[in-house]
Amino acid sequence: MRIVVIGGVAAGMSAASQAKRRAPSADVVVFERGAWISYGSCGIPYNIMEPARTLDDLVVLQPDVARKERGIDVRVRHEVLAIRPERKVVEVRDLDQCAAREEPYDRLVVATGAVPVRPPLPGIDLPGVFVLRTLPDGAVLKRHVGETNPHEAVILGGGYIGMEMAEALRRRGLRVTILERAPQILPGHHDEIARTALEELKRNDVLVKTGVSVASVVQGATPGLLVVHTDQGAVATDLVLVAVGVRPDVTLAQAAGLKMGASGAVAVDDRQRTNVPHVFAAGDCAEATHRVSGLPVWVPLGTTANKQGKVAGANAAGADERFAGIVGSAAFKLFDLEVGRTGLGMREIRELGLDAVASVSRHRTRGHAYPGSRMIHTVLFVQRENRRLLGAQMAGGDAVAKRIDVFAAALQAGMTIDEVEQLDLTYAPPFAPVYDPILIAAGVAMKDLAGRR
Ligand code: NAD
Repeated sequence: MRIVVIGGVAAGMSAASQAKRRAPSADVVVFERGAWISYGSCGIPYNIMEPARTLDDLVVLQPDVARKERGIDVRVRHEVLAIRPERKVVEVRDLDQCAAREEPYDRLVVATGAVPVRPPLPGIDLPGVFVLRTLPDGAVLKRHVGETNPHEAVILGGGYIGMEMAEALRRRGLRVTILERAPQILPGHHDEIARTALEELKRNDVLVKTGVSVASVVQGATPGLLVVHTDQGAVATDLVLVAVGVRPDVTLAQAAGLKMGASGAVAVDDRQRTNVPHVFAAGDCAEATHRVSGLPVWVPLGTTANKQGKVAGANAAGADERFAGIVGSAAFKLFDLEVGRTGLGMREIRELGLDAVASVSRHRTRGHAYPGSRMIHTVLFVQRENRRLLGAQMAGGDAVAKRIDVFAAALQAGMTIDEVEQLDLTYAPPFAPVYDPILIAAGVAMKDLAGRR
């Protein structure tokens, strides 16, 4: 049995490790076009923040360790050029030798990930313009910051990378301007959450322009200087970070006849099987079922990639595992603010034609006489018809991400808002008021449903 995995980061290495564990006698081969495998890309902004740290810290498993200790045949700097399902082979090029050859498989796992969107703007490929997706991207940007000592940075995109990198670059002493195309930063979030994040950016002297259309990036008058031209004027800067989203890397999959879902990512069932026999897909290149809507969606996040990879690897090795789906939980930190979301947002709720209330509440995070209490802003989306919780978003201090996890569990269990309000949550003054902000928010949502607020 020969199991071939394309891509050696989160989903790919999870798949390979699991396949080898389930079928120790199988030949498990991973082709990765980069030089690094198995790293935590989500840690890159925090690593860039600290000049003394090496990016190698983020590598979980070195290729030689994967080979020696896990028995996985990892081939870095090997690019798969094509999948030929009719003959069950992949065409691979060794990037150090330029020679291409065919490699057979019995089972194939496609874990090709996602690639950053580069808007087709004049000057987008100039030196000093960066994207941040992979560890090599992080290395290039970190080196540039360390070696050229830039003073100004422009970030295109006020999404997750924009937020995390605004903090990272500010902490490295740069002045930061975020240019966001949408009318607000964090466009997938309720305006209560986006506004709270905006205030935190302003408190930390990050300049934010929204509703901006970027026209071009041009070389400035002095070496290394760039000028970003927009419909709201020009901004001079030493570096530009393009963080305007990602798209699934499905070039190989598409050419091989794998079916794509409506999102543009590879359509898979809950066993991570594609429409092509013996071919599985997992991670940022694949869809997942959203447990709240029941529909396939594309939400490329690290934890999902690891879980899907594990299921794909197990099943490639002959098991019958299922991936339970997602509820769209994500969180990030912005200076002293924590932001998290789970479930559906208002845009998705409208697209599904559901009638829901968006209930906003604000509350302190600790016992009233306990020091250090912070404010937490909560937005709950609750379906009017059946009182089911559809989504939750929070911004504030004190364990926002872990509080969001409670809502995620409630969503996964299909709870109504009344059931959420009855949850038996912990209480001690350092951690929460007698009624945790979760329970307060649920109570407020119940009042909003009744039109009593
Ligand atoms: P994103 O989708 O989070 O944000 C992209 C932003 O760019 C949006 O606000 C969008 O409106 C804006 N935009 C799009 N085109 C633009 C243009 N031409 N000019 C200006 N703004 C424009 O994407 P990202 O920040 O690039 O992150 C990439 C992926 O990585 C996302 O899927 C994200 O969820 C994920 N990620 C997650 C985490 C986390 O979970 N903590 C952290 C980092 C990244």
